[in-house]
Amino acid sequence: MATNGSNGHATGPAYNVIEHEYDVVVVGAGGSGLRAVVGCAEAGLRTACITKVFPTRSHTVAAQGGISASLGNMGQDDWRWHMYDTVKGSDWLGDQDSIEYLVRNAPAAVYELEHWGVPFSRTEEGKIYQRPFGGMTTHFGKGTAQRTCAAADRTGHAILHTLYGQSLRHSAEFFIEYFALDLIMEDGACHGVMAMCQEDGTIHRFRAHKTILATGGYGRAYFSCTSAHTCTGDGNAMVLRAGLPLQDMEFVQFHPTGIYGSGCLITEGSRGEGGYLTNSDGERFMERYAPSAKDLASRDVVSRSMTIEIREGRGVGKQSDHIHLHLEHLDPAILHERLPGISESARIFAGVDVTREPIPVLPTVHYNMGGIPTNFHGEVLTKVEGDPDKVVPGLMAVGEAACVSVHGANRLGSNSLIDLVVFGRATAQRCADTLKPGESLPPLSKEASEPALARLDRFRYASGGTPTAELRDKMQRTMQSNCAVFRTGDVLAEGHTLIHDVAKGLPDIHVTDKTMIWNTDLIETLEFDNLIGQAVVTMDSALNRTESRGAHAREDYPERDDANWMKHTLAFLDPATYEVRIDDRPVHAYTMSNEIEYIAPAKRVY
Ligand SMILES: Cc1cc2nc3c(=O)[nH]c(=O)nc-3n(C[C@H](O)[C@H](O)[C@H](O)COP(=O)(O)OP(=O)(O)OC[C@H]3O[C@@H](n4cnc5c(N)ncnc54)[C@H](O)[C@@H]3O)c2cc1C
Repeated sequence: MATNGSNGHATGPAYNVIEHEYDVVVVGAGGSGLRAVVGCAEAGLRTACITKVFPTRSHTVAAQGGISASLGNMGQDDWRWHMYDTVKGSDWLGDQDSIEYLVRNAPAAVYELEHWGVPFSRTEEGKIYQRPFGGMTTHFGKGTAQRTCAAADRTGHAILHTLYGQSLRHSAEFFIEYFALDLIMEDGACHGVMAMCQEDGTIHRFRAHKTILATGGYGRAYFSCTSAHTCTGDGNAMVLRAGLPLQDMEFVQFHPTGIYGSGCLITEGSRGEGGYLTNSDGERFMERYAPSAKDLASRDVVSRSMTIEIREGRGVGKQSDHIHLHLEHLDPAILHERLPGISESARIFAGVDVTREPIPVLPTVHYNMGGIPTNFHGEVLTKVEGDPDKVVPGLMAVGEAACVSVHGANRLGSNSLIDLVVFGRATAQRCADTLKPGESLPPLSKEASEPALARLDRFRYASGGTPTAELRDKMQRTMQSNCAVFRTGDVLAEGHTLIHDVAKGLPDIHVTDKTMIWNTDLIETLEFDNLIGQAVVTMDSALNRTESRGAHAREDYPERDDANWMKHTLAFLDPATYEVRIDDRPVHAYTMSNEIEYIAPAKRVY
């Protein structure tokens, strides 16, 4: 074993790096990554897909409720109404050109999935079944829309398996259970990605004209979340390490109905089918907070209302610390047909028979509105002197990792699955439009891959005194208590100190397993390092924004402040010190076409 003189860390012998060349490398095989893979491969581009889990184990598989599109199968609908709802749901922080792109392309994207084989639930006439979802309306807020297309309550499962099947029809190459380490950056451009094969520990350098990050969200920065253990936002962290910003990271969505104790999700579709919430008085309290939308108000509104009920002593259970979700009044046949998955989850994780008793639920971290800033072609943006929308050559992002930004300060339920396929397709289209298949790659120095390997070695040989699990636990608890549904300056300032302290613990981390074969100790440590960077920028972005908007509810600044805060937060991280530099970008206050006008900010009333 050698010692690297500059930082004193032990390193192993130099790695024998295996080289690959592609037109496009997609990192991630969830809904967004696979849709991009299909599009690129269809266009004849040499396409690789790198994924740390088997494609059909990506978190998209867990999506339950459905995918939004104004098909109008169960009543009148219009993409303009979908646009209005999405803008309003975003609390006017969404970019309206991107939102128009999303909702206009949504119906075609759903039909494409149907034709590819997604087994959607059906209406009597055989059309795709659509259910009501929170914040989805008709006639610009006047009626309730049935816009969420569903395959029972296993929509993500159906979509992901179908997309994987489609991706195998083309000649895309899959690198399964390969862990992407870092981007290869030179002169401000991305040239590909470094990765490690988890099975045999080999190191791979993937060079490509375009690298598409489709690595999903970072829910696991929190203690209680609905997302998979693999949701560690690795792509977001690679972007931070490349000196590029993440956008709107203070906006973390809490889903109103995680099962109390386990965090496992009970879909909003359950309220779409007629479920409702009660407090310890048996009161349907949402009628007080949102007289019109009631239990189907948008997620930030319902989560806050539940939190207030619990705080004011009207929670249920021995410790008055949760809320009841009722489905027992619904026809058991409907539950069986439309909500079989959550009936099973409630039985396993809460010991509840949903046909007889309510489910104990609590707001739980569910989705990251923030992420890698992109335009609606999927091109990653950074801010430079004189240009807040500067495209980073060679780098693209899609899905939950990206911040397009269509969800702004709060995402509407069922708007993520549609975001995955619409922008997955758009990104592939951009690659097809700008690349010629098989074109040779520019020369790249060997040194370009050094930083990724140095970081790998730093953790592989880390022999401090703190196990990764201990630091991770501290991070998750700090985020859960100091960056939650309600925030104040004091609580966030304390959170800032605590989370930076956790980051300062990194040099003392300890990895026991030094080998390269299925080294889960090492992978978990690399994931923790990815998470802590995002936790730090999330906390600091939240401390910085002194207003309340969407999912970011500041009790010390309870009003939305459009005069000062109608802007995206940008957060840059110094990877050596974990210091955060905050900047901002303007919100796109214009639409994509002149077929709909800019929707001006108004008060959100539900
Ligand atoms: C329980 C649950 C239910 C949901 N229900 C709905 C719903 O009904 N409707 C809706 O619209 N949205 C829903 N959402 C949100 C939506 O499912 C997610 O936002 C979306 O699926 C994310 O997809 P993605 O393609 O961005 O990433 P994921 O599906 O999270 O996939 C990430 C991919 O990146 C890969 N990856 C990550 N890091 C690395 C690395 N270092 N190296 C290599 N590969 C890597 C992983 O292997 C994986 O393939 C739900 C979310 C959850 C958690």
